[in-house]
Amino acid sequence: MKYEVVMGLETHAELDTESKLFCGCSTKFGSEPNTQTCPVCLGLPGVLPVMNKKAFEHSLKAALALNCEISNFTNFDRKSYYYPDLPKNYQVSQNYFNIGNNGYVDIVVKGKEKRIGIHNVHLEEEAGKLVHPETSDANYSLVDFNRAGVPLLEIVTQPDMRSVEEVESYMQTLRNILLYIGVSDCKMQEGSLRFEASISLREKGANFLGKRVEIKNLNSMKAVLKVIAYEISRQTALLDKGEDVLMETRLWDDIDSVSRRMRSKEEAHDYRYFPEPDLVPVWIDQEWIDETRTTIPELPVGKRQRFVNEYTISDYDAGILTEDKPLADYFEECVKMAQDSPKELSNWIINDVLRELNERKTSVQDFAISPKMLVELIKIKPTIGSSIAKDVFVEMINTGKNAASIVKEKNLTQMDDVSELNDIVAKVIEENPKAAEDYSQGKKSALTFLIGQTMKITKGKANPKILTEIFEERLSAGSK
Ligand code: ZN
Ligand code: MN
Repeated sequence: MKYEVVMGLETHAELDTESKLFCGCSTKFGSEPNTQTCPVCLGLPGVLPVMNKKAFEHSLKAALALNCEISNFTNFDRKSYYYPDLPKNYQVSQNYFNIGNNGYVDIVVKGKEKRIGIHNVHLEEEAGKLVHPETSDANYSLVDFNRAGVPLLEIVTQPDMRSVEEVESYMQTLRNILLYIGVSDCKMQEGSLRFEASISLREKGANFLGKRVEIKNLNSMKAVLKVIAYEISRQTALLDKGEDVLMETRLWDDIDSVSRRMRSKEEAHDYRYFPEPDLVPVWIDQEWIDETRTTIPELPVGKRQRFVNEYTISDYDAGILTEDKPLADYFEECVKMAQDSPKELSNWIINDVLRELNERKTSVQDFAISPKMLVELIKIKPTIGSSIAKDVFVEMINTGKNAASIVKEKNLTQMDDVSELNDIVAKVIEENPKAAEDYSQGKKSALTFLIGQTMKITKGKANPKILTEIFEERLSAGSK
């Protein structure tokens, strides 16, 4: 490809607070329309906003986690535009004095680390939501103001991303950071996390930026990745024909998988920003910054690196374990109780725990097997064998019982008494003379059959290693 792609991302994350940014209304998702409103968030005349401290603290925490410089002086501004879901006809946001500036996020793409610049992090209020009737002949739309005034964090990157993979990694890393620090639930299906992408192309080696297209309102990471792929090919085709890419805002149509023009630069909004006179500025002193910094836990990229170093597991496995903080905590709790088997624990969690969580559509916090129970199973495993351990694992989830009582109840302890197994092997050979003969003649697959027959008699409990030894000893004489 002769062009280089230049991309930036704006992310809106709803902050996890009980009440809205400037009033006491609940932020609960999914309630009856317009039941969580008051004169303040409906923008009625004469009301005064009062800022939610928790929302501000969450924003400060996020700005620090994203390595921003923190402004000591912050203020709110009015961003004016007319839209039916915006009751005041302006949005209270930050334009001149953001909470954080000049930060960065380190991402990993194909094993290589890359730094994505964060231009700024600022706090603002959500708009309401328009509900369009599903019947095509309806000539009205409805508006729900429950969301109006919910605290919203906007995170703006520098145009530092150069590939679809980088954008994907950035979105996942950012989401993980916000989840780790507990400022947003990041539920994309509820609109808690939304993206806007800007995409431009330039000839490789050019030192100027090409004309930029912005895509609004992307509600899923999948939609972001699709629109980027679409825009890259659309803009490439235009440039190849010698045509201009128009500087414009486009919308992604997920049904037809195309982007469509929303407005051109000439029609762009003039937001007429000016300081919000009804809110006081907020001063952030060093003490507040230091105090907030102590509440930030180890972040995913650092944790992943530490897991590799401390537990000698692969970078790939460490990546899976640290993708979700509760899962990483689960793993570490297990390792604390079984310090000599981090690799085995990591395998169990990645293969078995995650599979069951997916199938049962549940989270590790609600999982029936606690770290203590998993460690007990792993400790008991040598006496029951790997394949029975897998059955016990599933039984533990279904019954909530621990491994020891299941093994005892079902009498699953592995048989490794040599003389007892010797008798059974003798019987199996007697009953299957053809297979025994085949094995003596060097037909290896006959052994699998004989062991299978023995397992049937012992209900899978015979120690396969001892069994193999006995068969080899008894039948190898004949083969010579
Ligand atoms: Zn309200
Ligand atoms: Mn915004």
